[in-house]
Amino acid sequence: MRRHAFFLCYFETTRRCDQGCPHCMTDPAEPASRPELSTVEAQRLVLDELRELSPKGAVSFSGGEILQRADHLELIAHNARNGLYTFVNTSGSGLDSARMRKLKQAAAGRLTMGFSLDSVDDDIQKKCRAGDRERLERLLHLCEEQNVPAFVLLTVSRRNLASLSRTMDWLRERKIAVIRSPFVPRGAAANARHLCFDRADMGDTIHPALRANPLSYVSYTPFFAAPDATRLSFGGRGLSLGNLGCQAGRTFIGINAEGDVAPCVHLLDSPVCCGNVRDQALSRIVAESEIMRVLRGERPARGKCARCRYGDSCRGCRALAYYHTGDYLAEDPTCFFQPDSPATRSPLEETQTANTRLFLNYLAQNRPWRDIFGVHGRLGVTLLNFKAWLNTFLGSL
Ligand code: SF4
Ligand code: SF4
Repeated sequence: MRRHAFFLCYFETTRRCDQGCPHCMTDPAEPASRPELSTVEAQRLVLDELRELSPKGAVSFSGGEILQRADHLELIAHNARNGLYTFVNTSGSGLDSARMRKLKQAAAGRLTMGFSLDSVDDDIQKKCRAGDRERLERLLHLCEEQNVPAFVLLTVSRRNLASLSRTMDWLRERKIAVIRSPFVPRGAAANARHLCFDRADMGDTIHPALRANPLSYVSYTPFFAAPDATRLSFGGRGLSLGNLGCQAGRTFIGINAEGDVAPCVHLLDSPVCCGNVRDQALSRIVAESEIMRVLRGERPARGKCARCRYGDSCRGCRALAYYHTGDYLAEDPTCFFQPDSPATRSPLEETQTANTRLFLNYLAQNRPWRDIFGVHGRLGVTLLNFKAWLNTFLGSL
């Protein structure tokens, strides 16, 4: 079995949730014929298999709402005993100091919390999902109390475009790392296709807001960091600049509550399914599924992504390709770059390369990544002094 240097599995442990967000990606209706994975199935068929695939990997537990699974502490403790890192993505409803302590204890201290915020504007936030800025501040305070790192997941749709740059500024001022999640018409959102952003939205609003904040440089596209820039070896695990574009099927997979496996969480419950852990070992699905094999190859995508200088680093979002065209290998329909050939450079390359290096240094100095990758201090590249940069970038500390 091929062992992966690093692997992150987004595990939707249940479809249950008490929040009823208007456009939840997880369809709350459990397929009657296929019950959710039991405790033992989740442990053996998912968590133990992940340990074999990548003993230093990480599991991102989510739902629905992971905290609504009666066995959530048991699953997290099992993952910690396996030596994998734990992320918990939750609405945070009902989370208090005592529960946070229990989560941290179950994860043997190797825990990062993920919370959602789609907009700092309360009216817009209400239209997107439950919870607001105040709730987020309370949750971040709880994390601080328990010395648990946290990040924010921001789902980008046409509903929150107007406040996106204000939201990103708000997060940046507080030095909160953010992962952008593209809105896709999946689950309860299946009939809200009109909320998908397009190429113009990306070029005019989304990309400028993301590229201005290196603390958001996680797996988004289009991503213009120079693929042939210094290949940073991140903690000796072979992560490099080339690992910050689309990670679907490369260092990232998603698993739904019933055990279906997809190259990205956004592709769960779609025909881009690679198998089910009840039918086939997860390690075999990852190694042998045609979809996974294609996505692991060089320049897997078609169209302009195939002839693009960034075709093997950025790769284009495979989930957006699927939802816009029906073909998960189509060119990224939201990309505003028009490469004639692999020689065409984006005018944004210099900025994004510099910011990417800053971001990798941020990871090297901050939990959880410095723990996961075992790197401390600055990476061996010539950079601005990171703290000086951070001071300038974030305002006086
Ligand atoms: S398909 Fe790739 S870029 Fe798109 S959300 Fe998934 S991992 Fe990210
Ligand atoms: S054409 Fe494709 S690979 Fe190139 S930058 Fe755009 S999305 Fe990325």
